[in-house]
Amino acid sequence: MPKFFIKTYGCQMNERDSEQVAHSLLERGYERVAREADADVVLLNTCSVRDMAEQKALGKMGMLSQIAKRRPETVFGFLGCMAQARGDSLFGEVPHLDLVVGTQKFHRVADYVTELLEKKRARRMDDPRLSICDTEEETGSAETIRDHELHSRQATAFVSIMQGCNMHCTFCIVPRTRGSERSRTIEEIVREVRELVAHGVKEVTLLGQIVNLYGRHEFPAVNGKSPFVQLLEAVHAIDGLERLRFTSPHPIGFREDLIRALAELPKLVEHVHLPVQSGSDRILKAMHRPYTAEKYGSLVQRIRDARSDIAITTDVIVGFPGEEEDDYRRTRDLVAEIEFDNAFVFRYSIRQQTPAAVLPQIDERIKEERNQDLLKVVDSIAQRINARLVGRKVEVLCEGPSRTNAARLMGRTRTNKIVIFEGEPERAGRLFDIQIEEASGFSLYGTPVMPPSSPVFA
Ligand code: SF4
Repeated sequence: MPKFFIKTYGCQMNERDSEQVAHSLLERGYERVAREADADVVLLNTCSVRDMAEQKALGKMGMLSQIAKRRPETVFGFLGCMAQARGDSLFGEVPHLDLVVGTQKFHRVADYVTELLEKKRARRMDDPRLSICDTEEETGSAETIRDHELHSRQATAFVSIMQGCNMHCTFCIVPRTRGSERSRTIEEIVREVRELVAHGVKEVTLLGQIVNLYGRHEFPAVNGKSPFVQLLEAVHAIDGLERLRFTSPHPIGFREDLIRALAELPKLVEHVHLPVQSGSDRILKAMHRPYTAEKYGSLVQRIRDARSDIAITTDVIVGFPGEEEDDYRRTRDLVAEIEFDNAFVFRYSIRQQTPAAVLPQIDERIKEERNQDLLKVVDSIAQRINARLVGRKVEVLCEGPSRTNAARLMGRTRTNKIVIFEGEPERAGRLFDIQIEEASGFSLYGTPVMPPSSPVFA
């Protein structure tokens, strides 16, 4: 059977979409390989959030022209956000490209790949459908991301609960690449999580572009609870599920019912990733983020009042068009005042066809200086917070070997901090306590605390 290689750029939603594509190909008997050179089908699932992500995918596909020359029957495809945004113009940029599939058509990839392989192998070069581009919208496509490729002892899984975004932040291309908000039903999502738990998954992360606005167009509030809180309660009730996460919420729509859920649903972990983007009200307005720094700060306080041990992380953009030194100072001050457990800091990157792209841009050097400065602030706070854990016991869900050193294991705390430790491979997929001995801004290091009756040894 044909072999396929798939590489993913970008966010967790893209990872999840790639997993669905891989599942559909494996179901047809295709074999997954780890090297492009061994594959009959090479797919790159792309990201458009920053220019650099697009350039990386284009550069990678360009380099694959060597394989295309050696093995012209190989099928090459771009999937996902860049495919959606650029469509068939990509064929002009990459001559050996055969397939372009947008964000609402992942479930069609297996059909298209099979058709292209068959035609290329039969050398029907005169066929006008030798290349395929499908970036159409499709009603119900949110329901098609629902199958998983679980490996043995897999402890965690992502579940896509909605697609698209209606917020139109002026820097963001997502509304163009992922379309408007569409949500799956609670019943479908619960069914998927039940199956995952039956396979041994202990922790599930619900994914959406603005996850807390789940279902607002489709389903009513019930007893003052938004559809998202209703979904959290339904998933929380699944026996065998130990931990429940969600990402990423928007400060808008993070209402009292959700704050109450954080206090009342024990499986909901003590971590919220809450993108702030800027600490300057002027810049927030220009970004079309409908809150002020003060409102954001008071939301964080209410979340902390509900769950005192909660970790808060965020996303920040520096160098947005028009950002003056004073605006940047306000962002820096807000980050220091809130004391985020961690933050992803991004230099503003022009995305064509977004409102911010046509605003006067600021110097790259200034962006870089602000980026480096803010990273130092974030890192020193993260180190300080993590250092407080040294000498304490924390519960960890072991995910398997560490990515940087396969001789060690890695797991996550409920607060989403990575813990590296030594231990037996059978610990993968298990929950247990670890005594923390060392901390950096990024990771914790420690030793498992092992009562003799531990099920790890059962
Ligand atoms: S909320 Fe804003 S930043 Fe987030 S996906 Fe929607 S438009 Fe983009």
